[in-house]
Amino acid sequence: MDNTDTKKALFVCEACGKMGVKNGNRQKYCSSQSCQNIRNARKSARNKRRTNQKTTY
Ligand SMILES: [Zn+2]
Repeated sequence: MDNTDTKKALFVCEACGKMGVKNGNRQKYCSSQSCQNIRNARKSARNKRRTNQKTTY
């Protein structure tokens, strides 16, 4: 048994549902390329929505 295990925080990737070890920040996606792509896509989609709201307002 490793004592360091207690310090590791696990999270479930929102994209693939796999468990991973948190890097420190609130992490929602694992480090796999496809999941990072999804993360980036969601980020930009959110930004788009924000700018749309601004322009339509
Ligand atoms: Zn993932």
